[in-house]
Amino acid sequence: SAKVIDGKLVAKQVREEIAVEVTKMKDAIGIVPGLAVILVGSRKDSQTYVRNKKKACEAVGIKSYEVNLPEDSSEEEVIKHISGFNSDPSVHGILVQLPLPRGFFEWYSFAREHQLFPFLVLEVLKHMNDENILNAVSIEKDVDGFHPLNIGRLAMQGRDPFFVPCTPKGCMELLHRYGVEIKGKRAVVIGRSNIVGMPAALIVHSQTKNPEEITSQADIVIAAVGVANLVRGNWIKPGAAIIDVGINPVDDPESPRGYRLVGDVCYEEVSKVAGAITPVPGGVGPMTIAMLLSNTLESAKRIHKFK
Ligand code: NAD
Repeated sequence: SAKVIDGKLVAKQVREEIAVEVTKMKDAIGIVPGLAVILVGSRKDSQTYVRNKKKACEAVGIKSYEVNLPEDSSEEEVIKHISGFNSDPSVHGILVQLPLPRGFFEWYSFAREHQLFPFLVLEVLKHMNDENILNAVSIEKDVDGFHPLNIGRLAMQGRDPFFVPCTPKGCMELLHRYGVEIKGKRAVVIGRSNIVGMPAALIVHSQTKNPEEITSQADIVIAAVGVANLVRGNWIKPGAAIIDVGINPVDDPESPRGYRLVGDVCYEEVSKVAGAITPVPGGVGPMTIAMLLSNTLESAKRIHKFK
């Protein structure tokens, strides 16, 4: 059965390596990398992510700056904070926690359902646009790698982006640390969201069409679909390396929370066929924040020309 790719362990190693480098940098040039996180609104899950990012920074010696803005903040207000961090030399990474409060289409459905069109017009006029917000982050400090210019550079040959988005970067790091060669291999990425699937596909230069048929020819499979247990044992070429990005809750009356988390890959079946596989939880998940720290360190080194 497949070798388990232990993301929890790798993330711990990465964080330890980062802590060592942060200390070296501090000792050599007196500079500590800084990460600014902007949270708009009060979504519980976003608050948890922000808290975890902050804790992870503290643990490796990266200084974190946090701004919490109310749900009804205007686009200008959010951009004002971003601009402040863009020009603040102690900040090397800026991230705006997504999703931002309701955008146009969500307001549209809400208003249509409740027949509130005049209200909709008011909300749309005052509300923010994700693209304008992401565009406002300086590409040199865009540690999430979500600025269209960074994504564009990722897509162009010979033009390195300043940052690779954290979750796909974490997937690559797992393959790398487990000795899975990418060069010359056939890789399939299932899913093409902006934050996971699309950048992952740009890195491995592949496309997904008939997932079942094509996946069965792949040496490397990256699943970022958001559908529990979609990828089955009979989709997989024996010996393939499987990176499961999915985090999907499924009902489980036996669990104290009433649900448990499973990936996009049916672990029970696929682990019998694959050569290596990431579990959920404990695979890609812990790598995302580790890569955020890595991007922040990289940024501070680049800005201060520290090798
Ligand atoms: P998303 O919903 O934005 O994107 C899913 C993508 O899969 C879309 O491109 C969609 O077209 C495609 N898709 C949906 N059903 C499909 C099917 N049956 N066959 C082929 N393609 C299909 O989701 P996302 O943000 O990319 O997240 C995907 C999963 O990864 C979710 O379970 C999410 O919770 C998880 N996730 C994990 C991390 C992490 O750190 N481990 C980070 C982000 C997302």
